[in-house]
Amino acid sequence: MPDKYETIVVGGGPAGLTAAIALAAGGLATALVGKRPPHPDNRTTALLGGSVTALETLGVWEFCAAQSAPLKVMRIVDDTGRLWRAPEVKFASSEIDLAAFGHNIANRDLVAALEQRAAALPNLNLIDDDAIDIAPDAEGVTVTRKNGAALRAPLVIGADGRRSLCRAAACIGVNEHAYKQVALTVCLRHSRPHHDSSTEFHTPSGPFTLVPLPGMRSSLVWVLEPHQAGDIAALDDATLAAEIERASHSILGKVELEPGRGLFPLSVVTAQKFGASRIALVGEAAHVIPPIGAQGLNLGLRDAATIGELAVAAHRDGRDIGGDDVLAAYDKMRRGDVTTRGVAIDLFNRTLLTDFLPVQGLRGLGLYMLDKIGPLRRVVMREGIAPTSAQPRLMRGEAL
Ligand SMILES: Cc1cc2nc3c(=O)[nH]c(=O)nc-3n(C[C@H](O)[C@H](O)[C@H](O)COP(=O)(O)OP(=O)(O)OC[C@H]3O[C@@H](n4cnc5c(N)ncnc54)[C@H](O)[C@@H]3O)c2cc1C
Repeated sequence: MPDKYETIVVGGGPAGLTAAIALAAGGLATALVGKRPPHPDNRTTALLGGSVTALETLGVWEFCAAQSAPLKVMRIVDDTGRLWRAPEVKFASSEIDLAAFGHNIANRDLVAALEQRAAALPNLNLIDDDAIDIAPDAEGVTVTRKNGAALRAPLVIGADGRRSLCRAAACIGVNEHAYKQVALTVCLRHSRPHHDSSTEFHTPSGPFTLVPLPGMRSSLVWVLEPHQAGDIAALDDATLAAEIERASHSILGKVELEPGRGLFPLSVVTAQKFGASRIALVGEAAHVIPPIGAQGLNLGLRDAATIGELAVAAHRDGRDIGGDDVLAAYDKMRRGDVTTRGVAIDLFNRTLLTDFLPVQGLRGLGLYMLDKIGPLRRVVMREGIAPTSAQPRLMRGEAL
């Protein structure tokens, strides 16, 4: 007989752990079946808008706040060398009365803090294993582990990343587009302070983005054409550091690499539905977007907060927590946020890559207007860090 739970989360990345903590803190008997990835994640995440508030509300932030750096200024610099070059645009959080847009943190520090909080919740069972079969039926979903044991619940949260088994089990298709771009990620030490500023250089292959970490450290996401990425990633540490210093125009002074490099092919993937057959998709199981504007995991955390809110409310009212009405409400509440950000980033990326002069000119004009028109800049800043429409309760600092 399978072990019975009120909800099962499959996938122990940041989105799955957040969903599991939200559900368990809301009173649901929860299991998380998540296999740790074989390689450590050397990426960082700029947590924007309500993401830090949600992590504070869930009792996670106290375990990792000291490892994060505030993000107070964001600069966009046109480094394309093209005829129609845009002016530099600077966004300052003080302009919209915020101390910071958000906080940047290494993914491994964020995941460690989530795991520490999850381990302290008595009604959350953490299972370090792969799920190998997900079988939904009319009354519930059976999840079979690699060791042969089975679990069952009326609702499963699919947080199992871009090649989601849960998504396939729910027969949910995807819309997908692969870009001819690869992101190289690395963390750096540098001799000049970053002043809590991130700088995004726009190059003909994509953005080269430096984001502050605590002290004299920053993370770099360098978007390149695939052949360039392979060549650059193969450089030894000293040569790569010199290459990074050159590409960053030495704004951070002398650069040294920290151990660990990552290469991520860029694509946009959107699930056609975010829930079906008692399975709700969160994080990259539901949507993948290129790392431009630091949106991906912020969307994933809003997914986790939203399904947590809906399932806990349904449970309190004595309704079926995996019922079609809950999944339809979840899809409706997340669709707009995910679609608008996906479309905006896709458009932004394509206008950067195009050789078509009029489009380059339009892009330059857009950035010129952002630079010159204060009210427009402030609207873009507010919408960029979080949707101005209703946010989930956790993002507003309200417990479930
Ligand atoms: C270069 C780069 C920079 C980025 N920067 C930012 C940023 O600044 N801000 C931002 O908001 N987002 C950013 N993102 C996006 C962000 O990193 C992702 O959205 C986030 O990591 C996705 O988390 P997740 O939990 O959904 O998926 P994952 O981290 O992929 O987690 C999925 C987990 O499920 C596990 N799993 C998979 N299948 C199974 C199974 N069958 N059984 C059990 N476990 C399973 C995996 O082992 C993994 O642990 C960036 C992305 C990239 C590529």
